Amino acid sequence: MEIIILGCGSSVGSPVIGRDLIKDFNNKDFRTRSSVLIKYKGQNILIDTGADFRYQALKNNIKEIDFVLFTHSHADHTHGIDDLRIFSYMKGEKINCYANHYTIRDLKKNFSYIFDSNNNAPRPRLSLIEVEKQFSQNEVEIIPLPIKHKDWDIFGYRIDNFAYITDCSSIPESTFSKLSNLDVLILDSLRFSSHDAHLSVNEAIEISERINPNKTFLTHMSSELKYDDLKSFLPDNISPGFDGMQIKI
Ligand SMILES: [Zn+2]
Ligand SMILES: [Zn+2]
Repeated sequence: MEIIILGCGSSVGSPVIGRDLIKDFNNKDFRTRSSVLIKYKGQNILIDTGADFRYQALKNNIKEIDFVLFTHSHADHTHGIDDLRIFSYMKGEKINCYANHYTIRDLKKNFSYIFDSNNNAPRPRLSLIEVEKQFSQNEVEIIPLPIKHKDWDIFGYRIDNFAYITDCSSIPESTFSKLSNLDVLILDSLRFSSHDAHLSVNEAIEISERINPNKTFLTHMSSELKYDDLKSFLPDNISPGFDGMQIKI
C-alpha cells in the first residue's frame, strides 16, 4: 500500500488569506485542504474531494480514481467534487462514492446538479452509496470508523493496517476496538489550543498513544503549526504530515 497525503491543511488552508504572509512560510507549511490518495491492490482510492482537489491531482500526477470515500460533507472536504468529472469521463463509467447517511443526504442537496438525472450539462458521473459497516470494492475491504466531529457523526476509514481519521473531536469506544494493530494512522490535529470540533496536538498525542500504531502522521493542521517546530515537539513515532508526503506500508 502507498498513501499520498494530497493535503493536510485546515478548512482555510495554510497560509490563511488576508492574515498570513507567504514569506513567513516554508515549503512544508504550505498546506492545501485535507485529503489522501491510497494506492492498494491496483486501485486508486481517494478520501474526500477538497476544494484543492484539481491542483492536488495535477501535482501528484493522478490519472485514475477508482472510488471515493467521503468522511463528511463540510466544504473543505467536498468542494472539489466537480473535478471528478474528468476522472469519470476517462473511466467511462460512474465512480462509486461511499459515505454515511448524513453525508449522502448533504451531497445530494449541496451538489444537486450532479445527481439530477434530467440534467444534461457536463457533470461528474457518480454513484452515491450509503454504508454503515465493513464493505468491499474490487477486493479492497474498507472499514468505516464512526467518530464525532462536534455534534456530527462522521466517518474515518480503515483499509488493512492503515487508518485515516480527520475532523475528529472524539472517538467512541466502539471505534477504538476497530483500531488495533495499525501500521499507520493519519490523525486530525488542528492546533495547540483546544477546539470543540477537532483534536488539539496534545489530544492527538494522547489518542495516538492509546491506539499505538507503528507511526502516526498529523493532518488538518492550521497555519500556526509550523512543520519544523512541531516535528521537534512530537514523540519519535508521531510526525506532522506535509502535502505530497508518500507513505509506504
Ligand atoms: Zn475539515
Ligand atoms: Zn469538518
